[in-house]
Amino acid sequence: MKVWKILSPKILAEEERPDVISSPTQAKVKITKVLISYPEIREYNGTSGNKHPRVPGMFAVGVVAEAGPECVKVEKNARVYINGTRPCGECADCRKGKKENCAFPKISGVNTDGYLRDFVIAEEEDLFPLPPSVNDKEALYAGVISLCENVVDRLDVPKGTHVAVIGAGETGNILSQLLIYHQAVPVLIDRDENKLETASKCGIYYTLKADENLAKNLSEITGGRMAEACVYTAFCGITPDLPFELTAVRGKVIYAGLEFPEIGVKLKSALDKKLTVTGTTDEFAQISAAINLLVNKAVDFSPFLSDEENAADLAEVFAAKAEQLEKEKRLTPTILNMI
Ligand SMILES: [Zn+2]
Repeated sequence: MKVWKILSPKILAEEERPDVISSPTQAKVKITKVLISYPEIREYNGTSGNKHPRVPGMFAVGVVAEAGPECVKVEKNARVYINGTRPCGECADCRKGKKENCAFPKISGVNTDGYLRDFVIAEEEDLFPLPPSVNDKEALYAGVISLCENVVDRLDVPKGTHVAVIGAGETGNILSQLLIYHQAVPVLIDRDENKLETASKCGIYYTLKADENLAKNLSEITGGRMAEACVYTAFCGITPDLPFELTAVRGKVIYAGLEFPEIGVKLKSALDKKLTVTGTTDEFAQISAAINLLVNKAVDFSPFLSDEENAADLAEVFAAKAEQLEKEKRLTPTILNMI
């Protein structure tokens, strides 16, 4: 198989690797699409702090080219989502059989090689067949939906609860749609009015601009109570102190992202308000639940599916995205077609 790996910051190289199934529960999968977003570009420009060399690519879909004799849920030609997060198998929780609580999960493209490659040999348990009603582009977001479902679980709020969501990028938008699906009341906040308008078109009713009137406007929506919970999405470009201002006394604050940049906050206001502050990443992949949500059309993905590039141009795509991240401190995702 052919892989593309980041040798050192901004240096991508091709490499040939063997691709032979070595256990009867493995399958060989032809990669068809890979999502290029923050983890890949931070890896590429060297800001992730992870070790190089590394094959990037956290989220991918493909087609099974060959299934081992003991594979039972996938067969040749099946379209599959390839799970990029798996338990380490070595930490205290994994050894106790509580893999869903794994403290140090292996994440493709971050601390283990990812999916920027033509084929991958995968364990069948990491492959999730896609129903005909779910297209490949939507399926690439199964990992982001899984992250958002982890946030919803961690919030554990009753119906009708106001949840302030800071950052109207992909994660904030998808999370807000899922909160509506779970009958909470998200208020999506960003400085960028275009992103808020996109969110409105996805059915998110309350959107607020992060300006000097934000607290007053949120107070109006919540009948003076402010948000009972607040989710801050990584890389949203807004001060991470904002949740402490917007959340009601004894409320919950969650910092959510596939990974985080260095974050510093002024903790006193959180302590004074007795807030519960925690973080959520995609540590426990809820891929079956995510695919079910895709089947149910619970999320409108249309704003995130338009930017597509071909693998032949991947060097240019990485260079352009790295420039965008350095200049604008934010990134729009791109779908890379691998065939
Ligand atoms: Zn573990």
